[in-house]
Amino acid sequence: MPDTALDLLHRIFGHTAFRDEQQHIVEHVAGGGDALVLMPTGGGKSLCYQLPALLRDGCGIVVSPLIALMQNQVEALLQLGVRAACLNSTLDADTAMSVERALVAGELDLLYVSPERLLTQRCLNLLDRTKLSLFAIDEAHCVSQWGHDFRPEYRQLTVLHERWPDVPRIALTATADKPTRNEIVERLGLEDARQFVSSFDRPNIRYRIVHKDGGGTRQLLDFIRDHRGASGIVYAFSRKRVDTVADQLQTAGIKALPYHAGMDSDLRAQNQRRFLQEDGVVMVATIAFGMGIDKPDVRFVAHVDLPKSIEGYYQETGRAGRDGGPAEAWLSYGLGDVVSMRQLIQQGEAGDDRKQLELRKLDALLGYCETVQCRRQALLAWFGEPHAGACGNCDNCLEPPSSWDGTQAARKALSCVYRTGQRFGAAHVIDVLRGELTDKVKQHRHDEISTWGIGADLDDRAWRGVFRQIVAAGLLEADVERHGALRLTSASGPVLRGERELRLRSESPKPVRRRRDRGG
Ligand code: ADP
Ligand code: ZN
Repeated sequence: MPDTALDLLHRIFGHTAFRDEQQHIVEHVAGGGDALVLMPTGGGKSLCYQLPALLRDGCGIVVSPLIALMQNQVEALLQLGVRAACLNSTLDADTAMSVERALVAGELDLLYVSPERLLTQRCLNLLDRTKLSLFAIDEAHCVSQWGHDFRPEYRQLTVLHERWPDVPRIALTATADKPTRNEIVERLGLEDARQFVSSFDRPNIRYRIVHKDGGGTRQLLDFIRDHRGASGIVYAFSRKRVDTVADQLQTAGIKALPYHAGMDSDLRAQNQRRFLQEDGVVMVATIAFGMGIDKPDVRFVAHVDLPKSIEGYYQETGRAGRDGGPAEAWLSYGLGDVVSMRQLIQQGEAGDDRKQLELRKLDALLGYCETVQCRRQALLAWFGEPHAGACGNCDNCLEPPSSWDGTQAARKALSCVYRTGQRFGAAHVIDVLRGELTDKVKQHRHDEISTWGIGADLDDRAWRGVFRQIVAAGLLEADVERHGALRLTSASGPVLRGERELRLRSESPKPVRRRRDRGG
């Protein structure tokens, strides 16, 4: 009797049972069907093509964009007694030759290959002479030019289906937003493939978003002290920020190490090793860090700057709690971050379409940050996954925020921006609204305009919350040429004219300093 999928799962991989959709996927592909698999990181995608490749005759070809990951996988498979190999640019000619010989001789169960290598005439000819069991296209979102992992060669992978129409294909990704999913189907010609969508919920991760008080350093330190001795990752958006934040944490006695692409590569590798091997290391990093890092006991992921998109936020926070234990995803942001992120996008090199797209992604993220809804529900909704809400493990569920009718406040804010000539940042406009007689107010004679002092009913903190939210909502934008001066947008009109109501989130109460932090 031939082996069943379950036999191989026990015997070769030593697992007792399939997870979620794994069994259905394995059976579908082993039976010759095409599949698109959407599963969160750590969900167990590899088995979905490894098992069918073992169940079918011939060698399974795995297209993978990351050479380091490829090598790890092959080593792990060899230890389990699976006949696996890889072909990529790091192999010397002799080794590559012997892999090719083994492939054609039918001595391999799985071959991992980089897309550029696969697409060479030499490799395609080689596959013509090989019995093939399946094609697995890992990290399939690399086909999307809108993601930051875009790999042009992925677009040419349609050749696989054209050349070998009878060989089943399985595309896999952990990037599951609707637009990317549609693009994968279209670009890889997977219209007839069955889609397997696993839940993207990570119930053990607690989501929490705070508004920055000042620079936010104090809040970050408090947060990390709540996780004393735990391993964690702090994401910052630039190399310079990474260095600064790592310094601040070290000064505060935290075992923090920096990681970014601008560092000496030996030191970077050493920091990564320490993070993986030592207990309680906090890695302060740009998003260059994390892809393919499999450390199960990361207890927290903190963002001290805004991620680029909800997608990025989900991927980055998903590196916490892979062992299933309690973990926390924490993000802090303020008005300045919103303004500078928008500027960064607008000043970038990208074409107009791309900029528009990035701005829309940022808006979606800001909507998520400001929502009063259950965060888990909002996050999963972005991936098209329904969730009943009230998860009991996010800030909005644990400490429900209140909202207020901010229509009047927003109108005051917008008209004050207008009356002061759309030439100033939020700090000055707030001074005018509150009727402060600062030097700058006197210098520009802003105490003589009609909006001076009309906002004395709200304090500085509340006003900053109003500005953050109306900038986030696109009712004001930062003028790049004028050092981030705020100006009206086409969306401001309806609010100014009283045609649109606006509910705003109340600012969370000022955090109370805990006793152990006093005087320290
Ligand atoms: P992904 O590629 O989706 O990020 P992997 O395929 O690397 O995930 O699997 C993540 C981890 O889960 C691995 O350590 C793997 O051994 C384990 N795993 C996968 N499937 C099972 C299963 N059915 N039972 C137990 N462990 C599993
Ligand atoms: Zn919730």
